Amino acid sequence: MEKIGIMGGTFDPIHYGHLMTAEAVRDEYQLEHVIFIPAATPPHKKQSGLTPAFHRYNMTLLATCSNPYFSVSDIEMNRRGPSYTIDTIKQLKELYGTQAEFYFITGADAVQGLPTWHRIEELLKLCHFIAATRQGCLPDVDAIKDYFGELGRKKIHRLATPELQISSTDIRRRLKMNYSIKYILPDAVEQYIKKEHLYQSP
Ligand code: NAP
Repeated sequence: MEKIGIMGGTFDPIHYGHLMTAEAVRDEYQLEHVIFIPAATPPHKKQSGLTPAFHRYNMTLLATCSNPYFSVSDIEMNRRGPSYTIDTIKQLKELYGTQAEFYFITGADAVQGLPTWHRIEELLKLCHFIAATRQGCLPDVDAIKDYFGELGRKKIHRLATPELQISSTDIRRRLKMNYSIKYILPDAVEQYIKKEHLYQSP
C-alpha cells in the first residue's frame, strides 16, 4: 500500500504551523508524500473576504517547494461548486488506484465539524483522518470518534503536533495592523503577500 497524506485547508495564508504539521504526520505515519490541496471554495465558509484561490494556491506552492516530500494539487481549483472533500478523495482514488491509502490531515477543530460534512460516512470509508491538535486547543476528538462508532474509532486519529501558536486568522490580523509576520511563515510567502498587497487595510 502507498500511504499518501492529503493536507486539506483554506491556507489563507499558509504558515509554519501547517508545514510542521504535515511533516510531523508524514514522519509519524510513514507517508510516502503529502499533497497540499488548497480548498477553492471551502464548503463551510462565507466566500466574502476569502483571498482568491489562485493567490492561496501560489502561496502554498512557494511554501512547500523546498520539501521533496511535499507537492501541491490544483484539483479543487479545477472543479466548480463547493470543494467537497468526498469529491477530491474520489478523484484521487481514480488517479492513484487501489494500492493507495489516503490520510486526510486537518486541524482538530475542523474535525469537530465532521458530522456536518458532505457524505461523511462514505468519506470515512475512503480515507483516514488525522486531527492535528495545537497548544491550548484540545477539542474532544474522542467524542467525534465515538459519534461515528466503529468506523470513527478505526479511521479518525489524533496527533499532537509541534506546539506553535500560529493561525491564519492571527496572521491576517497582524497584517491589517501592520505588525511583523516574520518567522511565522516562509519568507517567500511574506514577499508574495507584500507584492500582491494581500490582507492589508484598504
Ligand atoms: P477551518 O475551519 O479554516 O480550520 C479550522 C481550524 O483548523 C483552524 O484553526 C485552522 O487553522 C486549522 N486547520 C485547517 N487546516 C489545517 C491543516 N491542514 N493542518 C492543521 N491545521 C489546519 O478549516 P478549513 O481550512 O477551511 O478546512 C479544512 C479542510 O476541510 C479543507 O480541505 C476543507 O475543504 C475541508 N472541509 C470539507 C468539508 C466538506 O467536505 N463538507 C467541510 C468542511 C471542511 P488555520 O486557520 O491556521 O489554518
